[in-house]
Amino acid sequence: MDRSFFKVLDCHLLEAGGGYSPAHGVLLCRNQLRTVEQVHSTVLHELLHAYDDCRAQPQGGLDWTNCHQHACAEVRAAWHAALGRPGAPSRAPPKRRRRSRIARPGSPEPSA
Ligand SMILES: [Zn+2]
Repeated sequence: MDRSFFKVLDCHLLEAGGGYSPAHGVLLCRNQLRTVEQVHSTVLHELLHAYDDCRAQPQGGLDWTNCHQHACAEVRAAWHAALGRPGAPSRAPPKRRRRSRIARPGSPEPSA
């Protein structure tokens, strides 16, 4: 990877702060990003996509046309980019909440 992996351009058709594609690398839209925090979170978000894509290279990379893979990559990138923002509450992922059981006739009472 070299400097050509990162591009900073005016984006007139893309209504986002940036983007990533395996063929073009990371794009930052200078006309969409207004604050340093937006630049930081966008760079982090797009680099996470690049990292996930690189990590999946033994399987041919992420299939960005696969909605499940794309959605998982977006959630992961959004989560980590949010953690990098000032005032982020914690780096630990939320703990799974225990589901309350609904007692059905004939079933034992749920324990606490
Ligand atoms: Zn994304």
